[in-house]
Amino acid sequence: MSLYFHIPFCAGSCAYCDFYSIDLSDLSARSKTAVNTTLDRYGEALERDLARLPENLVIPTVYLGGGTPSVLGAPRIGRLLSALRGVLRNRPAEITVEANPESVTEPFLRVCRETGVTRVSLGIQTFHEPSRKAVGRTGSADNNALSLVREYFGGAFSVDLMTGLPLQDERVLLRDIEQIVSRGPEHISLYALTAEHGSPLEKRLPDPDAADALWIRGRDALRDNGYEQYEVSNFSLPGKQSAHNIRYWRMESWIGLGAAASSTLIDEETGSAARFTFAPDIDAFIRGEPPDFEALDRNTLIKETVLMGFRYRAGPDAARFHRRFGVRIEDIIPRTLAAWREKGLLEPEKPALTEAGLLFLNRFLRDAFTEIDRP
Ligand code: SF4
Repeated sequence: MSLYFHIPFCAGSCAYCDFYSIDLSDLSARSKTAVNTTLDRYGEALERDLARLPENLVIPTVYLGGGTPSVLGAPRIGRLLSALRGVLRNRPAEITVEANPESVTEPFLRVCRETGVTRVSLGIQTFHEPSRKAVGRTGSADNNALSLVREYFGGAFSVDLMTGLPLQDERVLLRDIEQIVSRGPEHISLYALTAEHGSPLEKRLPDPDAADALWIRGRDALRDNGYEQYEVSNFSLPGKQSAHNIRYWRMESWIGLGAAASSTLIDEETGSAARFTFAPDIDAFIRGEPPDFEALDRNTLIKETVLMGFRYRAGPDAARFHRRFGVRIEDIIPRTLAAWREKGLLEPEKPALTEAGLLFLNRFLRDAFTEIDRP
């Protein structure tokens, strides 16, 4: 099982955000002490739940996501990752911590390096100030954070970029990519911004065709710079994929701790799973309220495995699928696979979308689910 910590705090709130996150600027308007007390109590609650996990756990990958984990600050991150070391039997091969430029500091990076973090994932999105302002991104993404991360982690960092932002055009995107690539991150995520239908933000976004074309331009620029697309929105230098995220896309069990975090524990014998989800409520998490439980039956788990697996360029784990469900993927969605292979959007030798096929993932999933649900 992999391990995920949700750190639901941010320095501001972005107009497009649909994660559970608390805007710390609201709390700090009350008092600086309120911020520190809340972060301290949240960190202690994570340590409490960590100590309750079974002894001698072997965890291959760990991810601190959010929200913005770097707002916890160096001492709290250090305490949490030291506590993690205390409960594990192994040293995880990968520990990733997400950070935003405005809260990247030398003490934070030093503590990450000292406590076994293998990759920092930096949420730049864009350097273009008008686009940042238009979606309410906090702070200014300048090169300082990139330089600092580079200094402490060499190339072992990832950068999040976004396309489809207001006031962003090809020139802006390519300049962002050039600046980032010149720092040599081993991993880059390129997300296409979407806004809720009818929302005020949607009206300020470029039209969908222009936004799609821009994302494709970004994808090609990354490829030209040696970054391989290995998932819908993720690119890496060869061999530098995110092992933690691959485990989700291949539907392996994970434990999630923190407000709004979920765990999925898969029973390989029956092909079913148990899901535990903490309420999106930091006070409830701090009080120690237990997560909600949901049983995932075989059919639900098959659908989730298809949903996650086809995002991944290599496709779902076919051998595991067969072992877990007693059938092959080809037996579950034969017509969908044949039709998409016919269109050249599916690999000839395995159930996996081609690079062009990934652009139509949602349509593929619609076809696949219709076939799965067909009586
Ligand atoms: S930084 Fe990320 S998590 Fe925080 S408000 Fe912005 S999009 Fe949401």
